[in-house]
Amino acid sequence: MEERSTTSPAASSAPADRRGFLRPELLYSLLLFAAAAAFVLASVSQWGWLPEGAGAGSAVFFLAYGLFTISMGFSHPRLGYVSFDRVAQLASILVLGPVAAAWLSGLASLLYPWQRLRRGRPLPEVLTASLHNSGLMSLVVLLAGLAYEKLGGAIPLVSLGWRDVALLLGVLAAMEILNDLGMRIFLALRDGRLPREISVFAFVVEWGAGLGGILVAIIFNRMEPPVVALLLVVLSLGMLTLTELARMREGLEKLVAVRTRSLQEKSLELERLATHDALTGLHNRRSADECLEERIAEFDRYGRRFSVALVDLDDFKRINDNHSHDAGDRVLEAVAARLVACCRSTDLVARYGGEEFLLCFPGTELAAAVEACEKIRLEVAGVDWSEVAPGLKVTLSAGVAEMQRGLGRRGLLGTADAALYHAKATGRDRVVSTAELSGQGGPAQR
Ligand code: GH3
Ligand code: MG
Ligand code: MG
Repeated sequence: MEERSTTSPAASSAPADRRGFLRPELLYSLLLFAAAAAFVLASVSQWGWLPEGAGAGSAVFFLAYGLFTISMGFSHPRLGYVSFDRVAQLASILVLGPVAAAWLSGLASLLYPWQRLRRGRPLPEVLTASLHNSGLMSLVVLLAGLAYEKLGGAIPLVSLGWRDVALLLGVLAAMEILNDLGMRIFLALRDGRLPREISVFAFVVEWGAGLGGILVAIIFNRMEPPVVALLLVVLSLGMLTLTELARMREGLEKLVAVRTRSLQEKSLELERLATHDALTGLHNRRSADECLEERIAEFDRYGRRFSVALVDLDDFKRINDNHSHDAGDRVLEAVAARLVACCRSTDLVARYGGEEFLLCFPGTELAAAVEACEKIRLEVAGVDWSEVAPGLKVTLSAGVAEMQRGLGRRGLLGTADAALYHAKATGRDRVVSTAELSGQGGPAQR
């Protein structure tokens, strides 16, 4: 109903605002408003502004009540648009008659959207909402009210018989249909597509509000003003509670979504911390062992060859001692970055110990893995380390082994370690493979 035209999420989108004043929905709203104004004025000239006997006080009351019930409306992302102004619309028909009810309802709908200018909504949007809601509501109230009157419905309504109940349900249905039709045309013109199904919740609230309107009318017509005031206080409290409940629910959903996202982020971070090394960002030893087990299982089952290399920085203790532990850390970070840059994205690069790294090259034979390590060795030795510490030199040694049948993880790493040991023993800054070792009677290769 009211306000739905501009409080749905799509309405506040920037493209709609940028289209300026030449918008189909504005032209439609203008036409609707002009038609409603013409009908209302024609009817007023025939029946007058207010029915005989109805004081101006009643008109002021229904205008204020109309504004109040419109302001109760809210747009919920899942429940759809929920409004309560049907209370004021139906009640004013049954107290003042369709003509007065139409112009009062139209006036309230015309006035209400302007408060949105204060909230920074653009003028075309506010103007469109104002004209559209006012035009549509006046027409809905006038047509449904006149039909009710023509069919012999009681105005002012003071008691309910079965005939009244049937007629009033018919009036309510007519109001729903006319309102929905007008809204659908508006939304289709604005968004270029037909809106989704109406929300059941919004539908129930509008019918509930309509029934509330019948109650307000009977009490207004029969009771003294204090009783009416009391009833309205109770009814308003009910509306406020419903509004507040829906808002609370929306707030809670948002909160849960935010918390869930932050928990997901934290659990991802924890997972990363459990599998990665904090200093270099590389996989840690646990993660490397798991990865290696997978490669070994693939090797055993499908015969997929792979090689590994244990890479150890030379005389790293001296780097720490001569330059500082902090310089040592920066060397570790820089070497890690170079290892990643030199390897393929499918290779594993892990920090396996203090200044020791494990590389795993899937689909790679021993000779190719040695070549890759040689490239890494030259790359690291060629870095200008003076930025980290003057006179600093960094070299590394590597032991390379290819996976063989019958070797487990420990066996494979043992052979790579033996090759690394040999590289250290024969002068450092070297890459040694198990092939070289076996040529020299090193650890047996299978
Ligand atoms: P080699 O050439 O035989 O490998 O000699 P090395 O000095 O590199 O080997 P050693 O095992 O004697 O010393 C390793 C050093 O690495 C000792 C340790 O303090 C240092 N280290 C281990 N982890 C870190 C770290 O995270 N940061 C720094 N700055 N140093 C580390
Ligand atoms: Mg070392
Ligand atoms: Mg070491």
